[in-house]
Amino acid sequence: AAKKRGRNNVQFYQQGINDSDSRYYKLENAMRKALKKEEFEVYYQPQYDLQQNKLVGMEALLRWNHPEWGVISPNEFIPIAEESGLIEKIGEWVLRSVCKQGMVWEKQGIAPICLSVNLSPRQFENTQLAEQIRLILEETGYDPAFLKLELTEGMLINDVEYALTVIKALKRMGIHIVVDDFGKGYSSLSYLSQFPIDCLKLDRSFTLNLDNDVNQKIAKAVISLAHSLEILAIAEGIETEEQLQFLKDHGCGWGQGYYLGIPKPVNEIGY
Ligand code: C2E
Ligand code: MG
Ligand code: MG
Ligand code: MG
Repeated sequence: AAKKRGRNNVQFYQQGINDSDSRYYKLENAMRKALKKEEFEVYYQPQYDLQQNKLVGMEALLRWNHPEWGVISPNEFIPIAEESGLIEKIGEWVLRSVCKQGMVWEKQGIAPICLSVNLSPRQFENTQLAEQIRLILEETGYDPAFLKLELTEGMLINDVEYALTVIKALKRMGIHIVVDDFGKGYSSLSYLSQFPIDCLKLDRSFTLNLDNDVNQKIAKAVISLAHSLEILAIAEGIETEEQLQFLKDHGCGWGQGYYLGIPKPVNEIGY
């Protein structure tokens, strides 16, 4: 089973849990019930326009509040949800929750901000995805111009033709497409010009090590690549004033990270 689950689940083995298989099935079983028991919760992390020092968006980050095990990180349960197929239902729930919350904030008169949702490979492979999202937008009334969907490079290049079809359908609705963790994966630059992408999100590993000369160069290169393509550069994982200043000085458009604001549940956001 370990092999089938693939490299995303390295965590289980590293945590030193000797009975990792039973833990896997325990989590999978509990996850099946979690949706019904309303144990999932969306946290939101603020995103700022670094040039204007202004709140412009939030990234939706899923949490699982298990009654016994506490808050479980998506790094731990998304791979299992992905493998078991549960991600389809969970992902749909996240999209609906986010659009509903967006409407609540809008009605409260909070300046329009973008909400950004992560998609997993299996969700993206679902040929009904665009239609599913269209229905959620219709049902909630959320403006697609304020919805961003985050994909990873692997999802784009796995099947370029298919990815292009899906992205075009999403773009026709007015949704914005973000390439998450950019620079971490395959970084095939040729696809960038092929896809109608709106934002590049510089992987956290570069932000984290901006005291390193090479990472500085990579960060600058990604920002200037985004500028050339006339798309938005977003930096993730900003943890210090120095990192913030560097990214600002080099023209990075938006940023997010613990230094600017940690992900929080709605009731702690304080609107
Ligand atoms: P991601 O999309 O790259 O999200 C960024 C991760 O970095 C989040 O972890 C966030 O809490 C964390 N982070 C934010 N600022 C900082 C910082 O300054 N320093 C550090 N060290 N970390 C920071 P999180 O919430 O644990 O999510 C992990 C990953 O799980 C996400 O990576 C995303 O790929 C996935 N994920 C989260 N929510 C969803 C979801 O609703 N659906 C799917 N399919 N995947 C999700
Ligand atoms: Mg993301
Ligand atoms: Mg990311
Ligand atoms: Mg990441």
